[in-house]
Amino acid sequence: MNKFEQLGLSESLLKAVLDLGFENPSEVQEKAIPLLLEKDTDMVALAQTGTGKTAAFGFPVIQKIDANNRNTQALILSPTRELCLQITNELKNYSKYEKGINVVAVYGGASITEQARDIKRGAQIIVATPGRMQDMINRGLVNISQINYCILDEADEMLNMGFYEDIVNILSTTPDEKNTWLFSATMPAEVARIGKQFMKDPIEITVGTKNSGSATVSHEFYLVNARDRYEALKRIADANPDIFSVVFCRTKRDTQAVAEKLIEDGYSAAALHGDLSQAQRDGVMKSFRGRQIQMLVATDVAARGIDVDNITHVVNYQLPDEIETYNHRSGRTGRAGRLGTSIVIVTKSELRKISSIERIIKQKFEEKTIPSGIEICEIQLLHLATKIKDTEVDHEIDNYLPAINNVLEDLSKEELIKKMVSVEFNRFIAYYKKNRDLSTQSGERRERDDRDGAPRENNNGGATRYFVNIGSRDNFDWMSLKDYLKETLDLGRDDVFKVDVKEGFSFFNTDPEHTEKVMEVLNNVQLEGRRINVEISKNDGGGRRDHNGRSSGGFGGGRSSGPRREGSFAPRREGSGGFRSDRNSAPREGGFRSERGSAPRREGSSDRAPRRSESFGDSPRPRRPRRD
Ligand code: ADP
Ligand code: MG
Repeated sequence: MNKFEQLGLSESLLKAVLDLGFENPSEVQEKAIPLLLEKDTDMVALAQTGTGKTAAFGFPVIQKIDANNRNTQALILSPTRELCLQITNELKNYSKYEKGINVVAVYGGASITEQARDIKRGAQIIVATPGRMQDMINRGLVNISQINYCILDEADEMLNMGFYEDIVNILSTTPDEKNTWLFSATMPAEVARIGKQFMKDPIEITVGTKNSGSATVSHEFYLVNARDRYEALKRIADANPDIFSVVFCRTKRDTQAVAEKLIEDGYSAAALHGDLSQAQRDGVMKSFRGRQIQMLVATDVAARGIDVDNITHVVNYQLPDEIETYNHRSGRTGRAGRLGTSIVIVTKSELRKISSIERIIKQKFEEKTIPSGIEICEIQLLHLATKIKDTEVDHEIDNYLPAINNVLEDLSKEELIKKMVSVEFNRFIAYYKKNRDLSTQSGERRERDDRDGAPRENNNGGATRYFVNIGSRDNFDWMSLKDYLKETLDLGRDDVFKVDVKEGFSFFNTDPEHTEKVMEVLNNVQLEGRRINVEISKNDGGGRRDHNGRSSGGFGGGRSSGPRREGSFAPRREGSGGFRSDRNSAPREGGFRSERGSAPRREGSSDRAPRRSESFGDSPRPRRPRRD
């Protein structure tokens, strides 16, 4: 008997759970579902984003409504149309083995008459944004005077967005004897007020610490000059060829501008903000879910609550005005127990905000330096090599092989590899030569090193940088790799630093005195039967120690709006697949990103990609130890 069966769910729901690939209930589900099934009660449930709140109310509500009665029995309010659609979709999945249940989404920007017609056909559950719901009530298009359940999802966000009055108005047209379930990540005063006003002795459930961020998200910041913000964003993207991210900007205008620049510079990016039409927004979300877009540039409002699997990075291009918002942003990644990184690009004047955020999320930020040109070259090249290795061969190509062999037959394997990689590398080199000028201008850090009296050798701040052939696909994140290396090499707490984990490989630094030991010990170690290979890397990983003074980000001369394409930072080329939008956004092909066990990329699928075997319970990733 699995744990879902112990919650009291019906056969048909359990069957749906099986299809969804959920193995164990999350904590909020475990606590909320049995109570809601057993009793007719009000409830306040507080749990961070990504903890599975939708199913915590979704399963009980489906089980409790009467499918034979076509009246509207449950109303779910949620802050945005994207979320509305997401919840509706989710509920449809849950109820797919239950006959006669209709769930209708009601949100602005789409035809109100069509929505009214769908409701008329009999919708036991309505999922609505407060604004459109209020509108429909005013026009008499919906009747919620008989509902038994009202669910406020992401209540804090709804109130943040100024829906207080709408919510109060809507609730006042519902019967007194209904049950109200309030789900929220945080409990600001306004949410408490709604609770007091509209709920009777609600059962309270709290999962995790209130207001704290997810433990599977690590937080990093990059200090840059204001004019280098955009350049920094590009480098972050270039140093993470597999990036799948939401980039937050403060205003619609900035959102649009950043997205446009990224697209011009060859990245697969798109904007999501309130000035777009409904159809445009749907299109963007569809491409993002389908992973044709790697960088979704969004405003806070537009991206509220969005649940897309496997977002690797949240980038705060600008910090939000309200510090609380940071939590909502970073909650887009690290979902369902997976690891994620939340990055902030800050200028000196904003630095104090970092400390305020640290206090709220009860986690520390790590200061990072913008990757150097060399580092990015290395990453991209190794990424290319990994991509070649992982590419599945489509046997269509067999027909062309004789001709190709003809052209290449005189080359040895070594030559062939060199040439293949050079296709990419020659451009990197070209870039890198240009870029060298830039980095010589960033003397700030070197001066600091001199002042600090830090030893300097061969231009890398005295440390040795290594490349090692293990990475996130071996279930390492930077912390667990650091621990592993310290242990394996029998080194002290601070002897391994600047650990950067990529998919198939990683970088780290030690002081030169350990170089010999690292090379000798590590090259003779096996990890799960595979030989570890460590090499000294050419790049310095941006300096000696983590808190080695705050440099300007290492590319002082960069103009914020650098020349495009050729001149722009990264060498991009046709077919590199690494990070460019393949014109007119043909679906990006498998390519570089070898996602294992994750959502298949499909064209035109608006459905949530099926999730498999990634449960809260037995996440294959190592849990990130808490840092305090
Ligand atoms: P929240 O509303 O708390 O932010 P969601 O309900 O959107 O979280 O769920 C986050 C993700 O976790 C979704 O992709 C969801 O399908 C998945 N999920 C929910 N419950 C489980 C479970 N029991 N096992 C595995 N994955 C789950
Ligand atoms: Mg939610």
